[in-house]
Amino acid sequence: MIKVTVWNEFLHEKQHEEVRKVYPDGIHKAIADGIGTDGFQVKTATLDQPEHGLTDEVLAATDVLVWWGHMGHHLVDDAIVERVHARVMEGMGLIVLHSGHFSKIFKKLMGTGCDLKWREANEKERIWTVNPAHPIASGLPEYFELPHEEMYGEHFDIPAPDELVFISWFEGGEVFRSGCTFHRGQGKIFYFRPGHETFPTYYDENVRKVIRNGVRWAAPSGAAKPVRGNHKPLEEIRS
Ligand code: ZN
Repeated sequence: MIKVTVWNEFLHEKQHEEVRKVYPDGIHKAIADGIGTDGFQVKTATLDQPEHGLTDEVLAATDVLVWWGHMGHHLVDDAIVERVHARVMEGMGLIVLHSGHFSKIFKKLMGTGCDLKWREANEKERIWTVNPAHPIASGLPEYFELPHEEMYGEHFDIPAPDELVFISWFEGGEVFRSGCTFHRGQGKIFYFRPGHETFPTYYDENVRKVIRNGVRWAAPSGAAKPVRGNHKPLEEIRS
């Protein structure tokens, strides 16, 4: 069982009727339902809860944290960001979705501006699998399409990803590195682009498969904690 916590700022759904129509129980609920229960134990947490629902206890019991945020990035307490960062360094997986590219935690982990091009024109997105051998691409077609999405375009201001799994093309002509993996400390990070709040993206079967695969991939390896600092020799040094 992989223990998953899906975190959502849960603001658009309460403030905007058009978002509530698409995600009546919150984006976190649709993401959690998409991950499902086959090998996963999924809980949710939201910004308005004490400590944003990300207490030491919750994070200690989380193998993979999924992050959706947009309008409330600045409302996330820096102490909680530090706490999540420390857990990633210890091996907790992190899946950052869509507008999470501008979250405090993603920017801290990337060390770059994380800005990009964007446009809301309800256009078609075609997502190409460019690393078919990667476990996150398991069961995915050569490409799949989302009929209505927000456009994100290059240049995406991130460090060169360790692995690029998906590239998106948009009807208006732009392209975007929409599935990127990174390693930080013992933790694995997967950024996945789709998921604008006014579109039913998180009900799409391919999107759900990518997120499920991402969670499986990002789960802790179980390797021993690395030992650093001054070290006694393991063998007698004779020379
Ligand atoms: Zn968006």
